[in-house]
Amino acid sequence: MISFDEARQVILDQARPLGRERVSLTEACGRVLAEDMRAPWDLPAWDNSAMDGFAVRSQDCQAAATLQISGYIPAGAQTHDRVEEGCAIRIMTGAPLPAGADAVVPVEEVAEADGTLTLTARVDPGQHIRRQGEDVARGEPFMPAGSRLRPDGINLLASFGQAFVPVFRRPRVAILSTGDELVELGETPAPGQIINSNSLSLAAAVRESGGEPLLLGIARDEVDCLRAKLAEGLKADILITSAGVSAGDRDLVREVLADLGVRELFWKVAIKPGHPTAFGVKDDCLVFSLPGNPVSTLMTFEFLVKPALGRICGGVDATKPSVRAVLRESTKKKKGRLQFMRVALTQEGDVLYATSAGNQHTGMVSTMVRAEGIAVLPADADRAEAGTLVEVHLLG
Ligand code: AMP
Ligand code: MG
Repeated sequence: MISFDEARQVILDQARPLGRERVSLTEACGRVLAEDMRAPWDLPAWDNSAMDGFAVRSQDCQAAATLQISGYIPAGAQTHDRVEEGCAIRIMTGAPLPAGADAVVPVEEVAEADGTLTLTARVDPGQHIRRQGEDVARGEPFMPAGSRLRPDGINLLASFGQAFVPVFRRPRVAILSTGDELVELGETPAPGQIINSNSLSLAAAVRESGGEPLLLGIARDEVDCLRAKLAEGLKADILITSAGVSAGDRDLVREVLADLGVRELFWKVAIKPGHPTAFGVKDDCLVFSLPGNPVSTLMTFEFLVKPALGRICGGVDATKPSVRAVLRESTKKKKGRLQFMRVALTQEGDVLYATSAGNQHTGMVSTMVRAEGIAVLPADADRAEAGTLVEVHLLG
């Protein structure tokens, strides 16, 4: 049995980004940039107005000054106008600032009558002007390789006319559920059977972490069936199996993987839940054998698979930052295992409290659904005491 930290390191040592591809900007959200992005031009490209109002010379603008309105510049127009002494030019948000002007007075701050305006407040030089290049200057790096694209990044890339972007290829992640008791979603389970829910939750988790799930369905607890499905899965970049890795007499996954040439790098990790997790490699394929109880499957995905996926997707860590919270109640735990406890979080003043989200059995998925985070209780003790600070990993 190896520690959680060792297991994670063994996995991360095997995780490398895949090749690159160019994708349309409309498909790029959630993808990871494979190159540093530099601005091809200044943004904004010219000095412009930040408000609907009047372009003025600030030295003409004492409170109660009256100015002649001498022109109009709508958004989208070009201008060769100049603001002369004692004059103002009507201007819309985003329109280019005319020569001579050094400030914009918002329309709400003037009184207008018969082609003139009267100021109600003093005007500061530079007010309500967006300067050329103040957002991003030409040549400036604005997003490094490894950034996961969000809608805001899409906006910036679009502003720079970038219709296609270089991104890392998404790993294809084969998902295989194993077990004689399983039927597929859409079928009616007979007595003793359950629906294969793990394939669905794993596919969702893979997609959320930037991978492309390939559902291989169900393999029966039987060598030939497992061999055919596992061999198929080994063609992907990553293979994730659920169930069949404990010590039961029908737990054949590891044996068949070994037969197919998968080199096992560990089996059994000092964590709870998730203890029987195994990990191996065959050529460029990483193979995660996760336990079958749905909570164990998801927790091992979260803490062991997801960090690797993040790295394979281009080096970003897909896990959310953790917070520190005060444990509300004492809890018994297994000594020697890092324990993942599903918790609810409450803020009281400056203090964040973590309380058990309910029954912690690994068959109880509803407790995980109710939880806001996973408290990580240190391995060495057999108790976690009320009042101690614990690290809580936030669920998305
Ligand atoms: P095992 O690891 O095969 O001993 O399975 C542990 C528990 O997880 C059993 O109660 C299984 O019925 C359940 N389980 C296994 N595979 C799945 C699955 N694909 N979907 C939902 N539950 C499962
Ligand atoms: Mg089983």
